[in-house]
Amino acid sequence: MLGPPGAGKGTQAERVARARGIPRVSTGDILREAVHDGTVMGGNVKAIMDRGELVGDDVMIGIVTERLSRPDAELGFVLDGFPRTVAQASALDTLMAGRDPLIVLDIVVPESELARRLGMRMICEDCGVNADGPTPVGRCIRCGGRLMQRADDNTLVMLERFKIYQRATKPLVDFYHARPTFRSINGAQTADSVAADLAAAIEALGNGKVNAVSGGNAR
Ligand code: ADP
Repeated sequence: MLGPPGAGKGTQAERVARARGIPRVSTGDILREAVHDGTVMGGNVKAIMDRGELVGDDVMIGIVTERLSRPDAELGFVLDGFPRTVAQASALDTLMAGRDPLIVLDIVVPESELARRLGMRMICEDCGVNADGPTPVGRCIRCGGRLMQRADDNTLVMLERFKIYQRATKPLVDFYHARPTFRSINGAQTADSVAADLAAAIEALGNGKVNAVSGGNAR
């Protein structure tokens, strides 16, 4: 799944993964978990993420190569947050050799709407899960943890992430758009309507037998 920050990739990738019984691989989640756990890799990437910049292609390709080689990804997976550069997309093509073709779904949302959504986004301090805007009780629906704004959702970092998206990630639309398994999806609708459009596209493109790519988060 491709799309700019705030397009709803994470939410939608999770729904597709659940509906199909395949893992959602969110590179943002994998990195945040490493930071939270204090691993060496987490220590190396924290400052980069806090600035809204991209972690190096070699690190990211290594993470995804390892994750997709696990048995639970054998029948398919939803990639969310990867690829984010043309170099990552090329590496993914190499990884996909001998597997079903990638289905590439680009979630399109106007920039004004993206800024509004990111300003409202909250995550759980304990388990990191996304909450859809501040809830009345201010607690995570999954574990009851406190909700907080993500470190990289403040205005300055958000602008940087949009700039980087335009420069590094948007070219992926050109990289993929001539493929018969590429579709643009209108992301400026209710989450249910976006989910319905995505499901219909996956059904049409993959005959229900898919590896779907979501441009942003993995676990
Ligand atoms: P969002 O969904 O808001 O676009 P993510 O949660 O996917 O953001 O990613 C958060 C941060 O993690 C990014 O700003 C970047 O620093 C890093 N990151 C995640 N995936 C990648 C990737 N494929 N390549 C480089 N950096 C990445």
